[in-house]
Amino acid sequence: MTGMPVSERIAPDRIATLTRLIRTTTQESRTTISPLDGEPVAEIPVSSIEDVEAAFDAARVAQASWSQTSLRERRRALLRLHDLVLERREELLDLIQIESGKSRAHAFDEVAHLALTARYYARRLRRQMKPERRNGALPLLTSVKLNHVPKGVVGIISPWNYPLTMAISDGLPAIAAGNVVVHKPDSQSPLIALAGVELLRDAGFPADVWQVVSGAGSVVGTAIIERADYICFTGSTATGTLIAKQAAERLVSTSLELGGKNPMIVLPGADVENSAAGAVNACFSSAGQLCVSIERLYVPEAQYDAFRDAFVRRVQALSLGAGLDWDADMGSLVSQAQVETITKHVEDAVANGATVLTGGKARPDLGPFFYEPTVLEGVTDAAECFAGETFGPLVSLYPYRTVEEAVELANGGEYGLNASIYGPTRLARRIAPTIKAGTVNINEGFAASFGSIDAPMGGMRHSGVGRRQGAEGIHRYTEPQSVAVQRAMPMAGPAFLAPERYAKLLTLGMKILRRTPRA
Ligand code: NAD
Repeated sequence: MTGMPVSERIAPDRIATLTRLIRTTTQESRTTISPLDGEPVAEIPVSSIEDVEAAFDAARVAQASWSQTSLRERRRALLRLHDLVLERREELLDLIQIESGKSRAHAFDEVAHLALTARYYARRLRRQMKPERRNGALPLLTSVKLNHVPKGVVGIISPWNYPLTMAISDGLPAIAAGNVVVHKPDSQSPLIALAGVELLRDAGFPADVWQVVSGAGSVVGTAIIERADYICFTGSTATGTLIAKQAAERLVSTSLELGGKNPMIVLPGADVENSAAGAVNACFSSAGQLCVSIERLYVPEAQYDAFRDAFVRRVQALSLGAGLDWDADMGSLVSQAQVETITKHVEDAVANGATVLTGGKARPDLGPFFYEPTVLEGVTDAAECFAGETFGPLVSLYPYRTVEEAVELANGGEYGLNASIYGPTRLARRIAPTIKAGTVNINEGFAASFGSIDAPMGGMRHSGVGRRQGAEGIHRYTEPQSVAVQRAMPMAGPAFLAPERYAKLLTLGMKILRRTPRA
């Protein structure tokens, strides 16, 4: 990069306005740098454990009144948020790019996801939150309603890779359901999370409904886990496992969105060019630093050479760049640690017999953490990247003989987040339920399910617990409370009937109900 540091696109007083949203009493701060050019972006204040405590105290006070607001008021704020997100699109895109290094088109996915999420929950809030009627024990005499009671104060710990979506989109249903949030964004990407919080306030959500604290996960994150009534975590499987244990000690429930080693199966008869184009998007969006992106490609032996050539040609045509414009197809990795992981995975795969078909090099000429989109073949199970997540622009190609074998290969390893199938829809639909993944995208990589906010999204196996999006995405933040009303006669039977007579009567009643199809 030459000329003015990209981070100078954010004025100092704008940074000051955003960082004031962090609850802190310490004089400590951390400097963040932009992956686009390695230049400093901002001094981010650090919170203490006492600050987390104060955030929870304020959150509990705020929750008491927030939970009493009408669904109509919350709906209005959600719709206003939708409009503001689109109005402030350009600044949000700048901030996402500056903090995460991704290309502008990939940054737009986050902005779009937040707007879609706001509209979705605004429109569905009444249906999802109003008390539901359930069947009572004794027909006509028992009536049951199910209330969706907010959990209280939700702790959100979010990662750097989708700093807007994994923070604000994930937390929106929590506040829409009447909870209050205490949030710790990743230290790499606090400004975009803070811009999201500012949007919430401008949209009409009261200030204390979403509190932000900042600092190391092991300190500030732990302090949140020790206090929250529910924890929504997105990040690595290692940290998620630790958080699950800590939450279990307190009997607090969690949703954990973790890692993946997501497969794509190209079916026999798939259009080679179409599936190669889809695979490029699926593998290299956000430079592969996307939980649902594809890192394993299974191709029928008969189509392997044609697919490989088409895919490699398209990967080589991708442009890389660090500009705050729409020119580059792919941006930077987020940090030196990410460059080191992919470098290690490529070297290790090659040492274990793999061939680099394209890429395989860092690109310091473009920015400090750029790495070429890389395609391997001949990866053996001795290689770390065979089953381990790279979380970068690295994909391995494998030929297969039968569809059954492809499914078995796709189900290998420990993860189960996302899978993609290209080819005839009928066959793809038939094999989808046999694939161990929380989302299966047919003739798309990941975006069809991710962009369908009504569809739950999350991981099986080591990819997580719980689901974001859809009714599941809001009900995770509520306790189902059954309120049963008994009329005319107690459940133990009328006083004038001896227990044995009553038991006989109930037995007869149950036999009749068994024969009644709708009971
Ligand atoms: P990470 O687990 O290191 O960090 C994520 C967040 O957890 C950060 O805010 C961090 O500060 C915090 N944290 C770290 N240690 C903590 C602790 N001991 N207690 C509490 N909080 C702690 O993950 P990362 O490396 O930043 O993110 C990359 C990983 O996240 C990848 O494995 C990726 O697959 C996964 N991810 C998953 C999804 C999904 O939806 N499934 C989405 C994005 C990222």
